[in-house]
Amino acid sequence: MDFSIAASVQEELDWMRRFVNEEVIPLELLLEDLNQQQMDAMFAPLKQQVRERGLWAAHLPPEDGGQGRGQVHLALMHEVLGRTDLAPEVFGCQAPDSGNAELIAAGANAAQRERWLAPLLRGEQRSAFSLTEFENSGSDPTGIETRCVRDGDHWVLNGHKWFTSNASVADFLVAMVVTDPEAPPHRRASMVIVPRGTPGLRLIRDIGTMAHPAYTEAGDLASRIGGHTELRFEDCRVPLDHMIGEPGDGFILAQKRLGGGRIHHAMRMIGQCNRAFEMMQERAVSRVSKGKPLGRHQMVQAMIADSYVEIEMARLLVLKAAWTMDSSGPHSPQAQKDIAAAKFALPNIMLGVIDRAIQVHGSLGYSCDMPLEKMYRAGRGLRVADGADEVHRQTVARLVLKGLTPREGKPREYIPEQRARAMARYGEQLARVRRELADG
Ligand SMILES: Cc1cc2nc3c(=O)[nH]c(=O)nc-3n(C[C@H](O)[C@H](O)[C@H](O)COP(=O)(O)OP(=O)(O)OC[C@H]3O[C@@H](n4cnc5c(N)ncnc54)[C@H](O)[C@@H]3O)c2cc1C
Repeated sequence: MDFSIAASVQEELDWMRRFVNEEVIPLELLLEDLNQQQMDAMFAPLKQQVRERGLWAAHLPPEDGGQGRGQVHLALMHEVLGRTDLAPEVFGCQAPDSGNAELIAAGANAAQRERWLAPLLRGEQRSAFSLTEFENSGSDPTGIETRCVRDGDHWVLNGHKWFTSNASVADFLVAMVVTDPEAPPHRRASMVIVPRGTPGLRLIRDIGTMAHPAYTEAGDLASRIGGHTELRFEDCRVPLDHMIGEPGDGFILAQKRLGGGRIHHAMRMIGQCNRAFEMMQERAVSRVSKGKPLGRHQMVQAMIADSYVEIEMARLLVLKAAWTMDSSGPHSPQAQKDIAAAKFALPNIMLGVIDRAIQVHGSLGYSCDMPLEKMYRAGRGLRVADGADEVHRQTVARLVLKGLTPREGKPREYIPEQRARAMARYGEQLARVRRELADG
């Protein structure tokens, strides 16, 4: 395994880190009351700098304007971007746009690529991905019910979706909908593009969450990135050429938007860990209790040591997953296993580190005078978003056990039989050694 990087890459990462810390993070404090148009105007000069450095949408394959960086290189970049949730927007790799771009690139024809992929990649349009439904378990997408029926030259959509991130500012949604309820479970669904303003697409509200707490009612649309929208399709008609791929391709295409994105997401969580850990260290050497800095009290030391070890382990886990994608391919079983492992491990490790950073700061950590409480609230969603922990744990366990044959009789390590085998192998030698040493 090789995680080494060229000096030029290190230089690029150093630039990114300075840029994110000095130019992007300060914006966190100024955006609360801005609408999307105002936010875009604040972001525009930063995005220009990123483009000039050749770092815009760096995850793209060369044919779509990227530089063909491998996953390890991209992972290191996302570690820096993860320091603030604004950075992916500034660097053109904001979810769900990046995942949708992968999906459209995988399934669209030339005209569709020109119409929806190109403006997405240039950062001129935004998109949303609409799968989850209030009435059905998002953990089992084979159970979604939003219907899509052909009527002449159109598809007609009816259904109730929720948690469609960014829908209230999206130029189009990529909706996963049922075209054939009688088909085998993984052939029931298809992907259809629904442009903003299509009659019958009713945006109900941006749901209040731990990250943006507020009770919301119909009509409450935050209309800025970061919202999670409840919506209905009510006899919503789109032309036939708005389907990506063929009817029934929904599950195949859904898989296309997941691999690399999950690794980038996991690495961004390392970025959050790093930031919380830096705050924890600063406080530990600066605040005094019972005559000595907090960092010289054993229980605070335990929090620091545990955080250090967890971040280092987590970082290696994600880099290894990235390396596996580069070396064995993104869809190899080993890559799938490592991606799923990183997907459920990271949110939990990140929440643990942020929680300890809050603890070391005491009342200050719990207060809104530090970013930690917000980082914690926003981070909690990641144990659920893009598949709950339990679902990814299952994937890891399934792949670990896949292909193993059941063993007849006793376990391989059953000691009475192991002992018999050991004696058959070494019995004579053992007796000889005993005799020789006894003889003296
Ligand atoms: C911040 C955020 C952003 C999101 N953005 C989007 C988006 O843009 N588009 C979109 O379509 N969706 C989005 N979602 C929805 C997300 O994909 C779903 O919440 C997720 O798939 C879980 O589905 P669910 O909420 O219906 O929970 P359920 O499926 O009802 O599951 C609830 C809980 O049951 C347990 N569980 C479920 N199934 C199993 C199982 N097989 N084995 C063991 N335990 C299980 C888990 O603990 C799980 O958390 C987002 C969610 C969040 C939190």
